[in-house]
Amino acid sequence: MIINKIGFIGLGNVGEKLAMNLINNKKKLYIYDKNKETYLKFKKKNVVNCSNLKDLAKFCNVIITCLPSPKSIRNVIEELEPCLNKSHLWIEMSTTDKEEMINLSKKIIKRGSHVLEAPITGGEHRAKSGNISILAAGERKTFDKVFPILSKMGHQILYCGKIGNASTLKILTNYLASLNLLGLGEALAVARKHKIDLGLTYKAIKISSGNSFVNETETQVILSGSYDVGFTMDLANKDINLFNNLANEYKISLDLGKVLKNKFKKGLEILGNRSYSTSIIKLIENENRIKMRAKNFPNQLIDDNIKKKGIEIK
Ligand code: NAD
Repeated sequence: MIINKIGFIGLGNVGEKLAMNLINNKKKLYIYDKNKETYLKFKKKNVVNCSNLKDLAKFCNVIITCLPSPKSIRNVIEELEPCLNKSHLWIEMSTTDKEEMINLSKKIIKRGSHVLEAPITGGEHRAKSGNISILAAGERKTFDKVFPILSKMGHQILYCGKIGNASTLKILTNYLASLNLLGLGEALAVARKHKIDLGLTYKAIKISSGNSFVNETETQVILSGSYDVGFTMDLANKDINLFNNLANEYKISLDLGKVLKNKFKKGLEILGNRSYSTSIIKLIENENRIKMRAKNFPNQLIDDNIKKKGIEIK
């Protein structure tokens, strides 16, 4: 397997940032998105805009996908499939359904191609800085071969064993983040009603046992009022449904899973597909006739760490 020409499919909020890190590391990219407006973000960059998937497969031996849903991934992979051979490697960086991932990877491996599952976690701001975390699964030798590419996009990289494991772990950690987000919304509402400054509340949580990654990042853009986390309600709903499916597969009864599913479904209906996932807090604000704001919080999250070297977490 020779890795020299890289194709990138799906240039949305997070795909664009991952692709840009490869380009900034002197990699020429062959890009494809069904929305051609996304190509404007790559003007004057070292890219070839592909007009279709067939061309991308013809030009590249590494194909990275970062797509919004299991359905979109299936469509893309099924279209690519006839064009693939043993020179190809597919790296899946979307958050997707474990069974879909397993089934599609079997089809691709049948063509003689290689597969690595590599979903990302840590937010758009870390995708931008190149410090996002990557959960990777597939053959160990494929992982070792691909590591130099992954390390251009991420910092902490965990090898998770067989295909399907990385998607399962990714869904699980997103579930925890969404639960935490709702909990923070309710905690902020209590502080607000008790007339405690929410900037002070943020600091108190940050130095105490209730702190979390979500508090340190998402609370900031809630308090500024932008809600901008670069992650949208449609994707949050997809991930919560995937978590519920994983639990249903083994008939694990979920209390919190159901609450989360209903709340985010309502968020989707009221706030819309492309509202930020963080704006779920607006439901709590509306129900309690409050706004959760504080001074001096940023409208956008920025990872002010410089790009850290990709390392494997053992
Ligand atoms: P997005 O919705 O912003 O972008 C998806 C892109 O894929 C769009 O540009 C769209 O035009 C393109 N697309 C859709 N269907 C296509 C098709 N059939 N062929 C070609 N292009 C197609 O999504 P995103 O936020 O960039 O997320 C991408 C994936 O990464 C999702 O699975 C998401 O759950 C996951 N993820 C996102 C974040 C984040 O912070 N945004 C973080 C971690 C993981």
